[in-house]
Amino acid sequence: MNSNEDMRPAVRTEPQSPTKDEPAHLHVYPSRGSQFAKRFRFDHVFGPEASQTAVYETLAKPIVADVLQGMNGAIIAYGQTGTGKTYTMGILDRVSAQGSSGIIPNALRQIFDSLEREFGTQSKSACPGGGHCACEWTVELSFLQIYLETLQDLFAPFFGNSVGEPLSMRQDPKSGFFVQGLRTVPVRSLMEAITLINLGLESRQMASTGMNAASSRSHTVLTAEVTVHRCKARVASQTGVVTTISRLRLVDLAGSERVRTASRASTQVKEAQSINMSLSALGNVVAALAQRDQQATFASASRPSTSTSISTTSAASSAMSRSQAGVHVPFRGSQLTKLLQDTLGGGSGGSNTVLIATVSPSPESCRETLSTLKFASRCM
Ligand code: ADP
Ligand code: MG
Repeated sequence: MNSNEDMRPAVRTEPQSPTKDEPAHLHVYPSRGSQFAKRFRFDHVFGPEASQTAVYETLAKPIVADVLQGMNGAIIAYGQTGTGKTYTMGILDRVSAQGSSGIIPNALRQIFDSLEREFGTQSKSACPGGGHCACEWTVELSFLQIYLETLQDLFAPFFGNSVGEPLSMRQDPKSGFFVQGLRTVPVRSLMEAITLINLGLESRQMASTGMNAASSRSHTVLTAEVTVHRCKARVASQTGVVTTISRLRLVDLAGSERVRTASRASTQVKEAQSINMSLSALGNVVAALAQRDQQATFASASRPSTSTSISTTSAASSAMSRSQAGVHVPFRGSQLTKLLQDTLGGGSGGSNTVLIATVSPSPESCRETLSTLKFASRCM
């Protein structure tokens, strides 16, 4: 198992963007026709013509492949409201099984395809070891919304509870933070998963109307937990079973725009403060992880030193130099960062993360675009 931490920022612009630069660079012109440009460099830049499939193949597919091998992963969409976070994640209105429909359905398809290819459609398939095979897999989904630092279970209505009922974040000395009472629902196929997520999206819709909270004011986290029991006879003539449990967190963040609070109703002021607080907590965690990773880079002679190749340290040297680095990572800063601790690199299983920053091509959004790109730059 690989245990390097790896935050890979990428940028996606929605249609009508004038940016047609070379890949991996993004220029922001503060006003139309302006000669002055601020230049950013990222691991990937997707222009307006980029398809959902291209974004998925480049950014999500490698992370999902690692999840299937037992490593945790997170895919996080960050940006101003209206720039395509929810579209990119594929949970705009209803999730569809079409290949072009965004990261969440594509990631789930990859998970089921891969497990079915390896094990057959039955969970207990004929094993090369013969006889009493213990090979088995399960996929369980949970769907959480964080609104005003309250944790809400979007699957709660299927169990007779209301979405609005707040859950508590608890800490286990061994396994870290977890949400007490959060429902995890086993799913056996892509269609089952999609049906379930669509029901969750309906309850998000209802909760939003009830609380007057648009979905852009809350964080939405879909988690797929994949458990695989692999009979050792599959890989070598041995007996026994190897079990891996890993989590993929798919995060659609609340809009990052700064709300001018002076003329707002008190709920909007509270929402704005809560979102600012949790996004800056996320920024602090990610910056600390990047710093820890950089120190690990300096400590590791085998590692390339370009600014974007954060992902190639061997597990051993990374683990060793990380303990030498001793950078404090402030996971306790918000509910979101507590929840993401296991996937952002606080857990023992190793982790793999991509942050997708979505930006608008419109000149009016220039300030927000700059702020989004600065946030994404801190992740490198
Ligand atoms: P956000 O979640 O960041 O607030 P949305 O995902 O809701 O933004 O996107 C706003 C609107 O723009 C939606 O109607 C969406 O369909 C459209 N949109 C966003 N990105 C794209 C894209 N890359 N291609 C086509 N339509 C897009
Ligand atoms: Mg949205």
